[in-house]
Amino acid sequence: MADLSGKRVWVSGHRGMVGSALVRRLASENCEVLVADRATLDLRDSGAVRRWVQENRPDVALVSAAKVGGILANDSYPADFIYDNLAISTNIIHSCFEGGVEKLLYLGSSCIYPRLAPQPIPESALLTGPLEPTNEWYAIAKIAGIKLCQAYRKQHGADYISAMPTNLYGPGDNYDLNSSHVMPALIRKMYEAKRSGASSVEVWGSGKPLREFMYVDDLADACIFLTKSYSGYEHVNVGSGQEISIGELALLVAKVVGFEGEIRQDASKPDGTPRKLLDTSKLQGLGWTAKHGLEEGIALAFEAFLSESAAKAA
Ligand code: GDP
Repeated sequence: MADLSGKRVWVSGHRGMVGSALVRRLASENCEVLVADRATLDLRDSGAVRRWVQENRPDVALVSAAKVGGILANDSYPADFIYDNLAISTNIIHSCFEGGVEKLLYLGSSCIYPRLAPQPIPESALLTGPLEPTNEWYAIAKIAGIKLCQAYRKQHGADYISAMPTNLYGPGDNYDLNSSHVMPALIRKMYEAKRSGASSVEVWGSGKPLREFMYVDDLADACIFLTKSYSGYEHVNVGSGQEISIGELALLVAKVVGFEGEIRQDASKPDGTPRKLLDTSKLQGLGWTAKHGLEEGIALAFEAFLSESAAKAA
């Protein structure tokens, strides 16, 4: 599939950070974007998903729908994370197959890899060791999604591919401090501390874990690139190569936001996996690299945070 022109492209999860970035990116593709609100379509309901696909007849499906959350949410709601994500993945992939969808891109996450995977993590590290316990429920469901794509390809020749993004951030992120990931949490905490004149901000864990971050519009661009140009059995890592410790990230966010107080580590909170950097040589070999630098991306995310907060308050 070299071109999406004239195609009916279903973006599931279009209200989320990734889905909305995909919808923004598809605006320049001359295709018809199909979306369904949560109130109209419960993706955990297999009958409803089947009917929706039969009625709307997408040609292409970009599967960004998922129940997502940060380290604390994953650790606190294991049943929700495994059940919702398994149901969403099986319902969408199977209904798309039945409905004759010609291309499907399934989005997973870098947490599918073993806790102590070699770094940077190559695609081949999948299922070579035990998972990080704080998010194994989500990871198992996402691994099942990859395997579904592979199984439908193997048994039926379906052109279903998977992409595994690194930690993402950007417009439309979740800023709820109990369920968010680290980047939106730091942006919000530092902004609120600056506004209230608080002298310090707490950052969870030791500050030592290393994470790679990618601006979500870069992911959306990679997804469209892969949808058009990749047709393989193995999933593809999507990363930026921009790795930073949580302690250094806190300093960088403070700089962007303009928070000048103290940064305190809260050692009672979990660190999670010690390092998570993706090996993106496969994607680079296909001809794609990320465009936004980390500081530039954080500045864009902060701008989006300000306008989203203003819109909510209005
Ligand atoms: P992970 O990449 O799956 O571990 O997900 P997170 O983005 O939630 O956490 C990444 C790292 O940032 C972990 O080591 C957290 O302990 C750390 N961290 C520091 N402060 C925060 C915070 O306020 N919220 C979250 N979610 N993580 C934080």
